[in-house]
Amino acid sequence: MLGGLRPQIEHRGEIVVIGLGRFGSSLASTLIEMGHEVLGIDADADRVQAHAGMLTHVVQADTTNEATLRQLGVGDAVTAVVAIGADVEASVLTTGALVDLEVPNIWAKALTQSHGRILQRVGAHHVVFPEAEMGNRVARLVTGALIEYFALDDDFVLIEMRVPKNLAGMKLGATDLRATYKVTVVCIKPEGLAFTYAESATTLGEHDLIVVAGHRGDIERFAHVET
Ligand code: ATP
Repeated sequence: MLGGLRPQIEHRGEIVVIGLGRFGSSLASTLIEMGHEVLGIDADADRVQAHAGMLTHVVQADTTNEATLRQLGVGDAVTAVVAIGADVEASVLTTGALVDLEVPNIWAKALTQSHGRILQRVGAHHVVFPEAEMGNRVARLVTGALIEYFALDDDFVLIEMRVPKNLAGMKLGATDLRATYKVTVVCIKPEGLAFTYAESATTLGEHDLIVVAGHRGDIERFAHVET
């Protein structure tokens, strides 16, 4: 069902978000805040209704059908995100339809590793695991002294943490962190002040925050130092 939309409406330049559940909805709203045009598509009339006025265009349609997507002009889009998760069949068929339409930049959300492998086989260019990634991140935040944790790729991470007790009062250049832990302090937020670049002459205050980069194992070893 096309929700009364005229065929072949111009959607070039819009980012297509398919599936307006919690993840798709939050993604679409953020894209709008960032100044992008967004076409949201969902099979559920209530979800479509809830997003009317929030996104550039919202359409009710079953996206597993390639002809429907073509008729909606999705074939002209440069970027499409399949944010359907729980219904694996719909997620895979929708991704396959986007591949057949030769959309150049297809992102798809997977709930499990095997779901992700299928999406990749079908031809998704990028597969994301929002639940798994967020769970991983939160586990590290709740169990340690970490304030923020960003995985830049599989093995390289950036963390924000308090200055470890044993380093308080030392100049960064005297800590030998690169040799001892193989980590680099990138910037520092002295208590009550703004972030600034960290240099050898920077003194690490007891209540300061530091942002540290390094390989995952090295960072984890460093982050377990008592703070
Ligand atoms: P959440 O992001 O809320 O965790 P989820 O991973 O549980 O969502 P689903 O509920 O499976 O994901 O799907 C998200 C949205 O995708 C729902 O609003 C659903 O209506 C929509 N959807 C599911 N199948 C289709 C389909 N074939 N065509 C279009 N939209 C669909």
